[in-house]
This record gives sequence, structure tokens and C-alpha cells, in this order.
Amino acid sequence: MNQKRLMTGVFLCVPLLLVIGFLVNKQYADWNTSAEGKQNEKLYPLLHTTKEVQASGKSIKSNATLAAIGDILLHDTVYNDAKDENGYNFTPMFSPIKDMLAAPDFLIANQESTPAGVELGVSSYPLFNSPKEIVKSLQDVGVDAVTTANNHSLDQGEKGLLSAIDYYEKISMPYVGAFKSQEDKERIRTFNVNGIKFALLSYTYGTNGIPVPKGKDYLVNLIDEQNMIQEVKKAKSMNVDLVVLSLHWGNEYQRFPTEEQERLANVLTENGVDIIFGHHPHVLQPIQTYKTSDGRDAVVIYSLGNFLSGQKDDFKDIGGMVTVQVEKTMKPGRSKIAYPSIEFQPTFVSENHYNNYRIYPLEFAKKNGLIGYSEEEMVSHMVNGLPE
Ligand SMILES: [Zn+2]
Repeated sequence: MNQKRLMTGVFLCVPLLLVIGFLVNKQYADWNTSAEGKQNEKLYPLLHTTKEVQASGKSIKSNATLAAIGDILLHDTVYNDAKDENGYNFTPMFSPIKDMLAAPDFLIANQESTPAGVELGVSSYPLFNSPKEIVKSLQDVGVDAVTTANNHSLDQGEKGLLSAIDYYEKISMPYVGAFKSQEDKERIRTFNVNGIKFALLSYTYGTNGIPVPKGKDYLVNLIDEQNMIQEVKKAKSMNVDLVVLSLHWGNEYQRFPTEEQERLANVLTENGVDIIFGHHPHVLQPIQTYKTSDGRDAVVIYSLGNFLSGQKDDFKDIGGMVTVQVEKTMKPGRSKIAYPSIEFQPTFVSENHYNNYRIYPLEFAKKNGLIGYSEEEMVSHMVNGLPE
């Protein structure tokens, strides 16, 4: 694979819709208003062109923005903060970045802790069980699908997994990676966004030593090269423009991928995968683009870090959203996919003595002394590629 130059920029900020009586939120509002002009410059050209279909000569172009955020891993400190008189409400935690999340045409989140709900007793590390309300909040802030093959998928056993799936179905949240039956697993999820059709698959390296119940391999998709290649082939036979993979892989707390991650990325992209959204390390790992031997471009985001979790310090409270602009050019008899831009917007999970969990743009967090790392540092970590 030859490395291709990565075209990346960053959206700087988003307008605030809700200001809740917490000092940082107020500061956020002031900061955000002053930065609004800058945002319009960067955001609008991209978004407005994505909705259009342009015809020039005999070729037709369509565009879609496909975005992903990292792990939603709810420790007790997070869900205790979300508790209210009606149950749990996580939506305020996303409010400072609500517009950022609403911008892409399609947004994927990795739901790492299984939302089996209070019926089974909510719990934290090491055997997580999250309130179901997190899924509703994700949906309300713009998440279009959740990936669910994670090392915590079986924390509450088959019962917990089925309880979560019940809820995904009840509120019509597409899920992929952990399934209720063989039939469910075999139903490849495809999505059509602005005339661009893609398949979404999701796999994990393992389930923390909890065995997958005998005869029920469908419960969680494990990383197995041959099985994955077969599923990618099946997805490609469904007339999709792209195959997108969510991979739970790599070593925890390492800011660069392992050789094994790079090897697997090579095998999968050479076998038809177009975009890989990675997670599990709890910290950000770089974005790398590749040219495959059949002439396609492939995009690998090695790790998106934690998007919402109770983990703190050493980069574990930094996450972000990656947005890949997908452009499809159709000519008689063939079509071609390109990625005119790949954007990364870093975020920071703020709390005050385990209260008032909020996800802020990193630039705001740095300016207000919530964290020492700047947006520039994190963006360059993501976009400068892998070390030689
Ligand atoms: Zn994990």
C-alpha cells in the first residue's frame, strides 16, 4: 500500500443551543459566539455541496459526509451524573457539541458498554451495564447507527445483549456487530445517503475472556480474517459503493497502532474495505490513507478514543469526531469513489468532582484551562500519519 497525502482540516466550533447554569457552560457560550464567523467559513462550503447532485457533461457527482465518534463507555460517575427524577438523561452532556454532531449526513457511534437497562441493574467497570436512555440521547443528538461488537458486549451475558437489542429495535436505532440470531447477523446493514450506498460491519478482538455461548456465535462478531473477508464479499455483492468497518482492536492507552493493526488494515482494505473506524485503545490513534492495489483509496482511522466515559487524564478524556466526505462520480457504465476531505474535530470530556459531565470542543477546553492540550496538537497527531 502506498501512502496517499492526507487532506485534512478541522472544524473549529459549534453554536450552543442549551446553556445550563454552570460557569463553564457560560464561558463556552461567550467563546462560541465570538468564534462564529470562523465556523461559517469552514463549515458551510462543505455542507452545502454535500446535498447537491451536480451534472457536468456525461458524469454525475453526488456527495455525502460520513462521520464517526469513538467509545461511549459509561462508568458509574457518568451515569450517576445523568440520573434525574425520571430515570437517566444523558442529552445535556452532548449539548455543547450538538451542532457538530448534527452536521454530518450520517453519524456512527461505538456503543461500548451494553445498554441492558435498569431491569438488570446498572453497573460500571469491569462488567458494565448502562441505562438504555443513552441510546435515546445518542439518537436525539444525531447518531444514525451504533456499532456494538466490543470487548464488553457480553458483560451482561446473552440476556443483557438481547435486552439492549430490544431497545435498539424499539426506538429504531440501527445496530451492528452483536446480534440476536443467526438471521439477524446475516442481514447485512446497508444505508443510502444522498445516493451513496454503503454497508456497515463491526467486529471485536474478543470479549474479555467471557466465552461466547456454545452454538451462538452470532451474538458477537469476532475478528476472524476469513469470516470478515467473506462478509465483505457478501456486502460488495449487494451493489454498495463502499464497505465501512468498525473495528474494536489494538492496545489500550497506546497512541499509535500496533504492527498487527496495520497488518490487518492492509489485509482488509486489500480485500474490499474502504473505510475503517477503529476504537478500543481509549486514546486517539492517527488517520492514515492508503492506495489499494486495485486502485481504490482507503481510509483507516486507527482509534477514535473515548467520546464519553469516566476515564480521566493521559489523553483518555480526549476524543473527537472524524468526518469523511465521500464523493461518487458516475459515468456511463462505471462509478468512482473519492474522498475530497477528511476532517477531525477533537473533543474533551469535562467534569467537576464527577458532576456536570460535558463534552466540549477541545479548543474551548484548552482556552478555559480544563486541559493542557490544544486542538492543534491533537489534530496534528491525527492527521500527520504514522511514524516511519
Ligand atoms: Zn474496548
